[in-house]
Amino acid sequence: MNVLVVNCGSSSLKYQLINMNDESVLAKGLVERIGIEGSVLKHEKEGLDKVVIEETLSDHKDAINLVLKTLLDANHGAVKSLDEIDAVGHRVVHGGEKFANSVLINDEVIEAMKECISLAPLHNPPNIIGIEACKELLPDVPMVGVFDTAFHQTMEPVSFIYPLPYEYYEEMKVRRYGFHGTSHKYVSERVAELTGKSLEGTKIVTCHLGNGASLTAIKDGKSFDTSMGMTPLEGLVMGTRCGDIDPAIVIYLMDKKNLTSEEVDELMNKKSGVLGLSGVSSDFRDIEGAAEEGNERAQLALDKFAYTVKKYIGSYAAAMGGLDVLVFTAGLGENSAIARKGVCEGLEFLGVEIDDEKNSVRGKEAEVSKDSSKVKVFVIPTNEEIMIARDTKELATK
Ligand code: AMP
Repeated sequence: MNVLVVNCGSSSLKYQLINMNDESVLAKGLVERIGIEGSVLKHEKEGLDKVVIEETLSDHKDAINLVLKTLLDANHGAVKSLDEIDAVGHRVVHGGEKFANSVLINDEVIEAMKECISLAPLHNPPNIIGIEACKELLPDVPMVGVFDTAFHQTMEPVSFIYPLPYEYYEEMKVRRYGFHGTSHKYVSERVAELTGKSLEGTKIVTCHLGNGASLTAIKDGKSFDTSMGMTPLEGLVMGTRCGDIDPAIVIYLMDKKNLTSEEVDELMNKKSGVLGLSGVSSDFRDIEGAAEEGNERAQLALDKFAYTVKKYIGSYAAAMGGLDVLVFTAGLGENSAIARKGVCEGLEFLGVEIDDEKNSVRGKEAEVSKDSSKVKVFVIPTNEEIMIARDTKELATK
């Protein structure tokens, strides 16, 4: 069985065609600048050089059409006929309280997804456009929606409620949802496989540290708490997002700088985080380089980032009543020994002992704690696509 995994952003589309018999990736790629001049598709097939196709793409339907055409290509394609695509799995960012699990998509489900748009006005519309385009182009192929928020629906009210008047939760669903759920779930399931122990009775903190970053406290295999909130702005210091700040700062800035709500939103989402602090870049590679050359603001940005992650780990250990495993994943978590060391240093009182030599690993699954460490520390590259494909296979074959 072959599953096509589709992840639509506002002007981009990532895809992977996965053979579910052995979970091998037959082909994958990325379409960028959809609806903008200079649209381009970069396609990779195992064993072949990357193919770059430049073609005008006015919308996501055009993009999916080009992806399907490319997958059928005699040279770099992966299938001979579209009949070989047995199901499509779509990443959907926000499932609100409606979706605690992945779901087989029908018209009713699409309507329910549309009702979640107000909670993720930037992310959900392109996801839904992608689903509707696939429905038109592959009308008889079952499709499944996999939500970033679903894994966190196990959080108890004490974790997800905001201390605002309760009617805002009841009437407008203002609450914490959490994101990166597919990634947190994947790495926690890998922990069970790597340790050979059931997740029942295990307390894990998973650190998804990429451009967007979030931590999740996972108890008995279920999301117990997570650092992102109603939107992906809450929580850690990120590449360009500020994470937790005193909410009164928003009002203060709007008053003093005469900012509109759009401007303050842009300031907090696009100009803050390690970019805003360092003034160098949102990319940790650039910031680590600048800090090494003595740039003090770059060093402050790295220190603030690691300090925030460390505080969250401590608070989650307190909330769960202990900590057995710490996991690092995503671009920074998988690749940066400096970031992992910065986070773990000072957590020895919790039983976290990082091994400098083992920690030099990059982009590979590895245990990086000392043998004597009470808390096991792992680097586990995330794989959201395989999670989407597995759920899609399960639901499409039911
Ligand atoms: P992601 O959002 O998961 O794709 O992660 C992207 C981020 O990971 C980049 O912006 C970098 O900040 C970070 N990153 C990737 N590779 C490295 C590396 N070798 N060293 C430090 N940071 C890295």
